[in-house]
Amino acid sequence: MDDLIRRSARELADLLQSGAVSAREVAVAHLDRIAEVDERVHAFLHVDRAHTLTQADDIDARRRAGEQMGPLAGVPLALKDVLAMRGQPTTCGSKMLEGWRPPYNATVVQRLLDNDIVILGKTNMDEFAMGSSTEHSAYGPTHNPWDLTRIPGGSGGGSAAALAAFEAPLAIGTDTGGSIRQPAAVTGTVGVKPTYGAVSRYGLVALASSLDQPGPCARTVEDTAMLHMAIAGHDPKDSTSLDMPWPDMVAAAQRRDLAGVRVGLVRELGGEGFQAGVRQRFDEAVALLTSLGADVVEVSCPSFDYALAAYYLILPSECSSNLAKFDGMRYGLRVGDDGDHSVEQVMGLTRAAGFGPEVTRRIMLGTYALSSGYYDAYYGSAQKVRTLIQRDFDAAFATCDVLISPTSPTTAFPLGSKLDDPLSMYLQDVATIPVNLAGNAGMSLPIGLAPEDGLPVGLQIIAPIKGDARLYEVGGALEAALHAAWGHGILAEAPAL
Ligand code: GLN
Repeated sequence: MDDLIRRSARELADLLQSGAVSAREVAVAHLDRIAEVDERVHAFLHVDRAHTLTQADDIDARRRAGEQMGPLAGVPLALKDVLAMRGQPTTCGSKMLEGWRPPYNATVVQRLLDNDIVILGKTNMDEFAMGSSTEHSAYGPTHNPWDLTRIPGGSGGGSAAALAAFEAPLAIGTDTGGSIRQPAAVTGTVGVKPTYGAVSRYGLVALASSLDQPGPCARTVEDTAMLHMAIAGHDPKDSTSLDMPWPDMVAAAQRRDLAGVRVGLVRELGGEGFQAGVRQRFDEAVALLTSLGADVVEVSCPSFDYALAAYYLILPSECSSNLAKFDGMRYGLRVGDDGDHSVEQVMGLTRAAGFGPEVTRRIMLGTYALSSGYYDAYYGSAQKVRTLIQRDFDAAFATCDVLISPTSPTTAFPLGSKLDDPLSMYLQDVATIPVNLAGNAGMSLPIGLAPEDGLPVGLQIIAPIKGDARLYEVGGALEAALHAAWGHGILAEAPAL
């Protein structure tokens, strides 16, 4: 069964459809792999083997009975622990929600179940999705499968590590400032942040509601496209959900030449502060895009220089409001409810005990930024920068079909190395944040290993709002060319666990 865990979702889907393997066999292979390696990787916070096998058996029974199944029926998936799944723990990597079992499914989860995708468990993440390393999880960090002493990115490090460790062929992430794309970059996997509103936020525990977006993660561009098709689409339960037909992302991922595609290289993303090996692999990828027929030009987006500062006002402002509901009254943890404390004291004690230092920092920042007298200077200015960033994108997309940059300034850094320096942690997202602020779509895919440390480097492709299919066209062509050059996918280079 070792063989099954190395298959792509597409290959597994074909094997399942032909009857060569059962959903149970595929699930068991992955559950066994989790049992074998996850003590070291710690990608998962919760695995319910019996629950997973019940779902797999049900799929097998219905397939045997001749039921028409969806294209990914029986393929396993790792779910970020920020999405509500009925009856299963949903902690968001926080002590605050320990013991909470949602009474309902997030729309994304419901779509996965409707598509008969087998859910293996819930993956580790930075507390309430705040962070770039998964070290802010209250349950201990996830380790990068390429080097267990290094971070797997964040906040969705658990989902990305599960893919890279061959514990799951598919995963769900959420991306508010880069939490799908940066973990993908540092683990040698693929991750997509869809256009804001393309995938429902209903049942996603909100970080910053105007930025949050769930999206697909996998080891190949095509698998990511298949999962994208399963989860995207209008949802009346999310007021910002887009009501429009989406083109076939899987068909888009089959594109192999890029003749006539105009690719803009963003001058502001990729210079100073970016590791030499990251820049080297990026330059090589640019040459490859050109050889595939793309027309690569440099574009300037001057307001991007202010994106990080604007994000770290908008995000704390929104999260201080969103996290106000965790007060010990309704969900999870309650501290001091012993008859000796008032309701307000219980709320204060619960929040002090339940939130870790990064969450506390951001709640305080956001509360300050929104306070009367400061609102216009901070939150108001940040919103104006957001408009300027949107205009920069509009101008760039007037002459380009997609934009590109390195996804992350560095490869995976050592665990613990940035914990005392929040700003250097925040700088991990310098290239991914503009996309969230403007609401458009972005992908990260692996383009090689940095010569200085042998760790994966990611390239970011950015598409205009609603132009998600372009990510798959360019990503699919680039990946095919890279795989042809290497003779295999990048994870074949990863050391054995
Ligand atoms: N690293 C970013 C942050 O800390 C990303 C968060 C996210 O996308 N959820 O805010």
